[in-house]
Amino acid sequence: MATVPLASAALRRLEGKVALITDGASGIGKATARLFSNHGAQVVIADIEDDIGHSVCNDLHKSSASYVHCDVTKEKDIENAVNTTISKYGKLDIMFNNAGITGVNKTNILENKLSEFQEVININLIGVFLGTKHASRVMIPARRGSIINTASVCGSIGSGASHAYTSSKHAVVGLMKNTAIELGSFGIRVNCVSPYVVPTPLAKNFFKLDDDGCLEVYSNLKGANLVPEDVAKAALYLGSDESKLCNVESDVGTSVLQML
Ligand code: NAD
Repeated sequence: MATVPLASAALRRLEGKVALITDGASGIGKATARLFSNHGAQVVIADIEDDIGHSVCNDLHKSSASYVHCDVTKEKDIENAVNTTISKYGKLDIMFNNAGITGVNKTNILENKLSEFQEVININLIGVFLGTKHASRVMIPARRGSIINTASVCGSIGSGASHAYTSSKHAVVGLMKNTAIELGSFGIRVNCVSPYVVPTPLAKNFFKLDDDGCLEVYSNLKGANLVPEDVAKAALYLGSDESKLCNVESDVGTSVLQML
């Protein structure tokens, strides 16, 4: 068996892998696309912000990144994003279901409109469902794959955000638990990353933070503030073979990488 030099393996942890990242044009998705690409992956960025998405791609290694328009609430778009990945790169190893919105910041349920609640559920939960479904479609025959969903600290606690956001992120964790058991029998792992506040456009708008702002309110590790690259590193671990035993409800490893 050929041996890979240690330094090169550490620097290229996703060599030969193909990843599809929803919401890759900004924040956590953009940082992950960059890190995955630096570690040797071919990356497909799927977003609705076409100009920004193309420009993020151009900043990555040109031969190893592509952009596809994809509204995660539309099954045809997700189906097309997966099919585009297969036709360009021949396979899909890592599906990062990362797209999400906070919705309006209303804590009074009487003020919550059905349409506002549904919009959050559509992107945060239905988007993850569709991403998991269509990634599975190509991963099951291959008998391998890693599906990573971005949940949140709001997927395990209450009152961190709006009712819709908290509900959607709890549901993402539930969906991960169910699909991990079904897909585990095909060698496919399903895990979540669950960050607390990361200063991205999403969090800055929601919490009205300035550019250097951060919120430690949910963190029990004081003085350590998350940046998008920290979440990208967690996704790198879950996408790489180093986490080959991490699957929810399995005997080893941890399913929810809670970043506090
Ligand atoms: P961000 O605001 O930086 O990026 C959001 C991206 O989502 C944008 O590029 C936008 O175009 C895209 N998007 C919006 N609607 C979409 C749709 N229908 N289909 C496809 N793409 C769409 O956000 P972020 O903070 O990087 O958030 C990424 C994920 O991380 C989300 O699921 C969010 O809930 C989760 N999260 C964020 C934080 C935080 O504090 N930033 C904390 C925990 C979890």
